[in-house]
Amino acid sequence: MAKEEILHCSFCGRKKPETDLLIAGLDAHICDKCIEQAHGIVLEEITQKTGDSFSEELTLKKPREIKEFIDQYMIGQNQAKRVMSVAVYNHYKRLLQTPTVENNDVEIEKSNIILVGETGTGKTLIARTIAKMLNVPFAIVDATVLTEAGYVGEDVETILTRLLQAAEYDVKKAERGIVFIDEIDKIARKGDNPSITRDVSGEGVQQALLKLLEGSVVNVPPKGGRKHPDQKFIEVDTRNILFVAAGAFSGIDKVISKRLNRQAVGYSASISEDKIDEENLLQYIVPSDLKRFGLIPEIIGRLPALTYMNPLDEHTLRAILTEPKNAIIKQYKKLFAIDGIDFSINEKALQFIVEKAVEYKLGARGLRSLCEAILTDAMFELPGSDITELKVTKKYAEDKLSKSTIKKLKAVS
Ligand code: ADP
Repeated sequence: MAKEEILHCSFCGRKKPETDLLIAGLDAHICDKCIEQAHGIVLEEITQKTGDSFSEELTLKKPREIKEFIDQYMIGQNQAKRVMSVAVYNHYKRLLQTPTVENNDVEIEKSNIILVGETGTGKTLIARTIAKMLNVPFAIVDATVLTEAGYVGEDVETILTRLLQAAEYDVKKAERGIVFIDEIDKIARKGDNPSITRDVSGEGVQQALLKLLEGSVVNVPPKGGRKHPDQKFIEVDTRNILFVAAGAFSGIDKVISKRLNRQAVGYSASISEDKIDEENLLQYIVPSDLKRFGLIPEIIGRLPALTYMNPLDEHTLRAILTEPKNAIIKQYKKLFAIDGIDFSINEKALQFIVEKAVEYKLGARGLRSLCEAILTDAMFELPGSDITELKVTKKYAEDKLSKSTIKKLKAVS
């Protein structure tokens, strides 16, 4: 009894009653305060080590170089590439200055990004490519599953759970990662007026997202969800996490068109003089259009870099098939080559695939499904046979496609 009373921390000497927790080792004890302090020292060491290599890597990349990197993987979308390159460059420039921010009077604000564009136009691809270039953890989350805390669905904090998982639970790494929030348009307020009933999956989520976007320390359930009520939360500082929100915002073209027409009739002479490209109204998007669509002004303010994706025309789809570094056709060539088969596809067949992708309204995502449908028989039959060459012509593609089930996709889309 008396012995237990004199237990103390072997590091700071605090007696057990003065501590919140005293952990026993082999011949020593350590209190909670000393653990915290030691943990801080460990973290500092790690940041010094990883931080240096991280900054070296990043300072090498200027916006132009970032764009050049994306160009290898992605066709067209030049405006989005430029805006993203600058935003990413500024974000990481700011991040690298964080240690000296206290003695700096100008604080560079976060430059989170919002991408507007139809599905399948490369919104995810551009964000993923940047994460690959920077070698930072990357998580994709779907805004549609999020609800306000306390309702059925996922709390916004689980967004960070995904990032932690992508960073293999290395908190420091996660804190420099990129989060891609897809379908942000689905949490728009229904209508321009605040709703009368509670809008738990719309405005409520936007409000909850705010604190993540602006940068704060958030308690994150490491396993996510509410299925593990006993899990200990991990603190994640979101100040240096880059958020890229994206959505199709279908119908926003009408909002833009209305605004442009109003301007043309009104006092903005420049717009009425320039011809408006009615086919691609997204290029004229401004933050107030997002507000009219139902994003709250605070959210829009936290996503200052706004850009758009162009719809994919036939020419772009054709280029996507063969030009990017890991273009679909290059992938098939490699797959066949592993089995000693020389695969080739002629221009007419490629054009045919593009036409079908357009006809079925499948966009770039459909290119892969179409190729699969055309090549599955060959991929099944040729390996292990005597055949060492496969030449795909338009006729071959037509035959295979007419027998496949891909036409069902047409009904789905
Ligand atoms: P989104 O996120 O806009 O719905 P994704 O980024 O998921 O679209 O793109 C769908 C598919 O199309 C991906 O396989 C992507 O590689 C391809 N893709 C889309 N746009 C391009 C492009 N401009 N260049 C190369 N590939 C593209």
